[in-house]
Amino acid sequence: MFLVDSHCHISNLDSVNSNILINNIINRAFKKNIKFILAISTSIEDFYKIKEIIKNKKNIKCSCGIHPSYINDKEDFTELKKISKHNLVIAIGETGLDYYKCYTPKKKQQNIFRKHIKIAYSEKKPLIVHTRNAIQDTLSILKEEKAEKYSGVIHCFNEDIIAAKNILDMNFYISFSGIITFKNTNKFIDIIKFIPMNKILIETDSPYLSPEPYRGIKNEPSFLIEIAKKIAIIKNKSINEIAKQTTKNFFKLFNKITNFNIKY
Ligand SMILES: [Zn+2]
Repeated sequence: MFLVDSHCHISNLDSVNSNILINNIINRAFKKNIKFILAISTSIEDFYKIKEIIKNKKNIKCSCGIHPSYINDKEDFTELKKISKHNLVIAIGETGLDYYKCYTPKKKQQNIFRKHIKIAYSEKKPLIVHTRNAIQDTLSILKEEKAEKYSGVIHCFNEDIIAAKNILDMNFYISFSGIITFKNTNKFIDIIKFIPMNKILIETDSPYLSPEPYRGIKNEPSFLIEIAKKIAIIKNKSINEIAKQTTKNFFKLFNKITNFNIKY
């Protein structure tokens, strides 16, 4: 039994990208039984950085995509399509919509989101979706583009129970980050109780959003256990059960097509 960090920005864990520091961070995670990491790209340039970091690490795979906050005028979808075929890439994203503090016009974000869904479709790889202050448009686009076919995950879930229901109806997974451990976030109790165990993933979103009791410290994959603990309390199950089920869910979602053969 081990845990999987389904969303980690490995290229930002250490500002100088020193291999030694990143290896230390990964070793700390291993010691806490977090034995598989999905490294998330936020741009094409970021993908190439990640590829260098993870190339000799068999328990880390990555995604490729352009995060809505990192859209500029140089998006090259021919290039994105090419890298999406790479054998290290098991997911497309993170992509989605961010209407919170994002300067890219909504229409442009939506077009780019749709292009990612088309790549997920043609490459048969699941989507990693970011949504902030934009859940209605996110859901409509996923539905219109028939994204359920290759499924995916709404990462760092911070919406309400109605949104959760819609996401589940599309056969998507829901991933929880350190936000659920923060004080004054009681809304997650009902939401987590509502979502069936076989649809839940867990993530750190590191180096951002450190869970309690590590707030104020840079987040890293070894802190994932705090998120599992919180779900265990809410679901009234053991941490082992949560680890086993979320790991199973992860491999069910991402292993079905890419078949990277990790035993768990
Ligand atoms: Zn992210």
